[in-house]
Amino acid sequence: MRCPQCGGRESRVVDSRDLDEAATIRRRRECASCSTRFTTYERLEAARLVVLKRDGTRQDFDRDKLASGLRKALTRRPVPDGAADQAADEIEAELRAGGTSEIPSSRIGALSMDKLRQIDQIAYIRFASVYQSFEDLEALKREVDRVYAERGVPAPKV
Ligand SMILES: [Zn+2]
Repeated sequence: MRCPQCGGRESRVVDSRDLDEAATIRRRRECASCSTRFTTYERLEAARLVVLKRDGTRQDFDRDKLASGLRKALTRRPVPDGAADQAADEIEAELRAGGTSEIPSSRIGALSMDKLRQIDQIAYIRFASVYQSFEDLEALKREVDRVYAERGVPAPKV
């Protein structure tokens, strides 16, 4: 593992911690040349998940890309650190539990929206407006109304 600062190859582990019920090990390392500290993650390689995209192409499932999409939706929302990562892990677990190795991208989109709806409704609307590319304000308003309906309160008049 190269040091991100100087590219040095020697580092020592200063801390090591289990994450996700020990499915992942996080290690803090210190570069032997410049003492920069950085983090590495080690996880068991699981069976490949392949995403079938809308245009018919296939792509390896990328958990980190999913997490960064969720993180973007959750930017500056009052949610705990790691909420996006936890949601991505849960989505991945759900996909793996499905037992099929090829997953339509629409399923990942739908699971992401479900998770975000539970975590934070603004993040959900942000994500949905990109993902579903609402045609107009009416479509966006219908979605907002749906969120209100789920909470059992009437939408405010605007
Ligand atoms: Zn270094």
